[in-house]
Amino acid sequence: MISNRELFLKNTAQTSDSPRLLEIDRAEGVYLYGPNGEKYIDLVSGFNVSNIGHRHPQVLKAIQEQLDRFMHVTVYGEFVQAPQVQFATELLEVLPESFQSVYFTNSGAEAVEGSMKVAKKFTGRREIIAAKQAYHGSTQGALSLIGNDEYREAYAPLLPEVSFIGYNNLTDLDKITDKTAAVIVEAIQGEAGVRVPSKEYMQALRQKCTETGALLIFDEIQTGFGRTGKLFAFEHFGIIPDILMLAKGIGGGMPLGAFVAPKEMMDVIKSNPMLGHITTFGGHPVSCAAARASLKVIRDEKLVEDVERKANLFRTELNIPQIKEIRGLGLMMCLQLENFDQVYQVSNYCASQGLIIDWYLHCETALRVAPPLTISDEEIIHSCKIIREGIEKFC
Ligand code: PLP
Repeated sequence: MISNRELFLKNTAQTSDSPRLLEIDRAEGVYLYGPNGEKYIDLVSGFNVSNIGHRHPQVLKAIQEQLDRFMHVTVYGEFVQAPQVQFATELLEVLPESFQSVYFTNSGAEAVEGSMKVAKKFTGRREIIAAKQAYHGSTQGALSLIGNDEYREAYAPLLPEVSFIGYNNLTDLDKITDKTAAVIVEAIQGEAGVRVPSKEYMQALRQKCTETGALLIFDEIQTGFGRTGKLFAFEHFGIIPDILMLAKGIGGGMPLGAFVAPKEMMDVIKSNPMLGHITTFGGHPVSCAAARASLKVIRDEKLVEDVERKANLFRTELNIPQIKEIRGLGLMMCLQLENFDQVYQVSNYCASQGLIIDWYLHCETALRVAPPLTISDEEIIHSCKIIREGIEKFC
């Protein structure tokens, strides 16, 4: 019989020449299980998705209840679907009051696409500014914002009138002018290897956008839903963006994204032309039901409140000289090593010892650590022991 691994390589599109090829049979909490009894701690949360762990019982219950009622019924924005309406309402309740309207998407990149369209139409301007080293997704619009020439050039031509500023660079803020429709930045740059900007920078960026009338669009696709020790990372900086983009951890493991904006801003997409931004599956009722349950779990289990303490435990346990720097905020962390070879060897060693750890798209010299927020102290200590062993062996 042909194995699933062979069929994966033969029949599904490959995104690189070196996939991890780890076969997963089931997942529960912080654990992934292979078909032959392998057991792994998932220290990357399926890339910042499983903030409340895999298959949280409350999420499963909400999904089951929604499955018993309806799944897809119509395209987005036509029928009144309780899970969408209820989740939008609950999401707005935990956000500042300037956020008044939610557009649900299937993914992060689609939230980026929608936000750019709203910004252009609302401001009547064309120019978008993004940050060097940014990552906002792989669709052509989102790819236009990627702060990495190699990735943009391979798929040129992309969107015109996109320019770049240095992230956390105060001088570059002068490039934001009254021609700028929007400045799109990650609240913390993830794939660049977890670059945390200063509060001073974020406040100056906010001020410059307000002065020039450019919209400030925050990508919280990786940082949202408790990851950094606040429900949303913008709270660290004492500022409020104009549009907030969400995905990944929003859906409790189900595919969902969203962008959230003031009502007058969001309203620009409903006319001239009408139906100018639509989606078939965006805000799928089962995903929205899961997202409601997930947000409730984050709040009821007070997961955000414990993030900083858990992050400190990681930092204490990983205080070894071979790790040059631990960057991050909360449980969005990055362990800086010297080169990719070390990162590769250590992550392979970790996998052999039952620990999934990875690296960053645009920073291959650092290890990615972003576990479910539900990880226990015991699991943190055990994970760090394996990482230390790997580092001691290969660095
Ligand atoms: N923005 C950021 C900061 C991301 O990390 C990602 C995905 O990794 C995206 C946007 C794109 O999200 P998606 O893969 O759901 O399209």
